[in-house]
Amino acid sequence: MVIKMTQSQYIEEAEKALLHTYNRYQVVLDKGEGVYLYDIDGKKYLDFCAGIAVFALGYHNKRYDDALKAQIDKVIHTSNYYYNVPAIEAAKKLKAVSGMDRVFFTNSGAEAVEGAIKAARKYAYLKDGKTDHEIIAMEHSFHGRTMGALSVTGNPKYREAFEPMIGNIRFAKMNDFDSVLANVTDRTCAVILETVQGEGGIFPAKESFLKNIKALCEEKDILLILDEIQCGMGRTGEMFAWQRHGVKPDIMTTAKALGCGVPVGAFLMTEKVGTASLTSGDHGTTYGGNPLAAAAINIVLDLFEENHIIDNVKETGAYLAMRLDELAARYDCISERRGLGLMQGLVFKNPVGPVITRALEKGLILINAGADIIRFVPPLVITKEHVDEMTGILEECIGGQEP
Ligand SMILES: *Cc1c(COP(=O)(O)O)cnc(C)c1O
Repeated sequence: MVIKMTQSQYIEEAEKALLHTYNRYQVVLDKGEGVYLYDIDGKKYLDFCAGIAVFALGYHNKRYDDALKAQIDKVIHTSNYYYNVPAIEAAKKLKAVSGMDRVFFTNSGAEAVEGAIKAARKYAYLKDGKTDHEIIAMEHSFHGRTMGALSVTGNPKYREAFEPMIGNIRFAKMNDFDSVLANVTDRTCAVILETVQGEGGIFPAKESFLKNIKALCEEKDILLILDEIQCGMGRTGEMFAWQRHGVKPDIMTTAKALGCGVPVGAFLMTEKVGTASLTSGDHGTTYGGNPLAAAAINIVLDLFEENHIIDNVKETGAYLAMRLDELAARYDCISERRGLGLMQGLVFKNPVGPVITRALEKGLILINAGADIIRFVPPLVITKEHVDEMTGILEECIGGQEP
């Protein structure tokens, strides 16, 4: 029998049972409806986190829910030893929206990054038979918590206790092409970066920076890996953020909003890499692209198109940026706003933890990206009215900080 407990009782139980790897907010969430979440006491929260840039479509979307239920009634999992129709459809759709040629489905973002790194190393290995290839990554980047993804994550705090990392990684400065050049050697096999850095503080890569890297990569046959796990899937107003700049990667990763909550990711590559890197026996996963996960991708991509999600991001994203710019102009404690579309950051001069906690009390879910930055990654279906509701609450929470 399940005995209903209070939120603080549940939290106490959680802290006894779960590994202490998160400082969670003191709320037990129960269900969602549109862009609102409800805790187990029925308190309503406007959600500007979307499960960390995941739930793009809004909660309790009937079409999405029905598509998953229908697949559950057929089959959830079959393994990659056999073909299944949802995965074939999902791969075709993902190729169409990305312009990439080959897809490998994973269960998470980190696993997609792992695959991308393996593909790049194998590509270089097939060219010269050597095993000492290097990868250039960016400072302040975030690519995930598994050992390979962590090795290219430019935050020493996340890495230190887990050294040694995988070898031959060099870190360059984001938006500083000279620093990339300074790290290129004849062993370099790939450059990996987020088209817009997420966890590191919402830093978009400049178009000139991306174009310079792309030219360098073409000249030296180095592979360009763009991590679109957070900034992809419509969030910046393009299906994938690199499409805004016309800088096509050789390998691309996606996850987060790809399944809108069903754990799934993918790495994609061009035909050039697809036919000269990972091959039979080189890579695998038990769950990756199983029928349930693939059904989620299919309905997500269908709904993106039918509901003109990208158009909404362009319009509402511009409005969000404008409202945040107003706040930055009005309050001394805010130094700047940066970001693209519905991936925005508001940079404060002080830690934002207290603001986020006050917002939660007032029914607004916000998250940070680094100690001093509030990150706005709402569901992609939010409207201007939701933005106004959010800025209204946010202002109440920062107002008290002014002298
Ligand atoms: C979240 C994230 C990852 C890791 O994804 P997981 O699904 O948490 O493993 C990798 N890269 C970027 C840019 C991310 O935002």
